[in-house]
Amino acid sequence: MTELRSHYDVVCVGGAMMGSSVAYFLTQNPDFDGSVLVVEPDWTYDNAQTTRAQNSIREQFTNDLNIRLSRFGIEFIEHFHENVQVDGVSPELNFRGTGYLFLADDEDRYAQLERESLDQLAAGAEVTMLRPDAISERFPYMDATQVVGARLGGMREGSFDGWALFQGIRRRAIHDGATYVKDRVVDIDVVDGRVRSVVLASGATVGADWVVNSAGCRAKLIAEMVGLELPVEPRARTSFVFDCRTPIDAIVPLTITPAGVHFRREQNHYMCGTAPDVDTAVDYDDLRARHDEFEDKIWPVLARYVPQFDQVHVVASWGGQYDYNTLDHNLVIGPGGDVENFLFVNGFSGHGLQQGPAVGRGVSEWITYGEFRAIDLRPLGYERIVSGTPIREDAVI
Ligand SMILES: Cc1cc2nc3c(=O)[nH]c(=O)nc-3n(C[C@H](O)[C@H](O)[C@H](O)COP(=O)(O)OP(=O)(O)OC[C@H]3O[C@@H](n4cnc5c(N)ncnc54)[C@H](O)[C@@H]3O)c2cc1C
Repeated sequence: MTELRSHYDVVCVGGAMMGSSVAYFLTQNPDFDGSVLVVEPDWTYDNAQTTRAQNSIREQFTNDLNIRLSRFGIEFIEHFHENVQVDGVSPELNFRGTGYLFLADDEDRYAQLERESLDQLAAGAEVTMLRPDAISERFPYMDATQVVGARLGGMREGSFDGWALFQGIRRRAIHDGATYVKDRVVDIDVVDGRVRSVVLASGATVGADWVVNSAGCRAKLIAEMVGLELPVEPRARTSFVFDCRTPIDAIVPLTITPAGVHFRREQNHYMCGTAPDVDTAVDYDDLRARHDEFEDKIWPVLARYVPQFDQVHVVASWGGQYDYNTLDHNLVIGPGGDVENFLFVNGFSGHGLQQGPAVGRGVSEWITYGEFRAIDLRPLGYERIVSGTPIREDAVI
């Protein structure tokens, strides 16, 4: 059993990707000499989004901040071994650089993808616009007559082992001094507009200078403990892994169809998903896979663009949840309005795994220096939630 101190400089509520990234970057920061406690009830992480994700990273966002956040994720992955190794050992990340391929089936959509590509190129992303001939040449298994074109990302985009990313970060954070306790935060004491302590299910009360809300889909419940509203709700997302009778002998990038169905290769299989037709909040414990989605919605789309996908069978599926920010499907980071030592890292809406490193670094800067240094993340702060001013991001998958 973990012996707890009566007080920590920083307490993270939730110890999956975000709680662990914050703990990691604090413990790596030579200017931070405080103590870090990560409270996490489920050390299997079975119900966390972090272990139910589809584990991909891209540069193709439409908001410059999202591009920069993910580009740091790419850098972090490039130097993963040096970043997380403990005694020369690190988990195998198995990154496969395939790019993301956004398909357009009419000229308006193609023009939109092309306009966005200019901003992406200006932000340093690698993207190329393709017409059907070029699509057929690169991806001969596709029926390019179904599209007028596409936008393809570079090989810095791709997929990896998400569990390895998270475990590497967590293990190094523990090695470098972060304490993890198997417990649940059930209440937070606020005195004169500042968090003073957190109350755990075990009955312990732990003093804290900073509390970080890293509770994923349950972030809204943690915010309520300090009297703040957060428009983040759990939305069901089902992942399917399938086999194809005639396997594809070519790169299969993470392909996003105009209908919002996405697919990619996963080792010797293929992985896919989509948003449900009725996309509203579900119960926090509802992690059911929506099996009907494959037959009703996904399969016809797969077979339309890839004729070989007419003959497939599903070999695995699982339910998951997005921590969906209903204001603008972007993350909320930094201090919580009137409660300035309560920090949000929430509302990632499906792209948090790749943003974890940049978010951990940003929060560590905020706690250590009182400002964001590497990337000014203030536009993604809580003020926009209070004022109801969305940050625009058009490429939500
Ligand atoms: C189907 C799917 C596909 C995805 N694909 C991608 C992808 O390809 N690329 C990408 O970048 N992102 C992807 N994501 C998103 C990514 O998984 C999440 O943004 C990221 O994992 C969020 O991490 P987190 O730590 O905030 O939340 P979580 O991983 O959900 O962790 C929250 C933790 O908080 C703990 N907790 C909750 N309440 C309390 C409490 N009261 N006290 C203490 N602890 C508590 C929970 O036990 C949990 O472990 C996907 C998500 C899903 C569901």
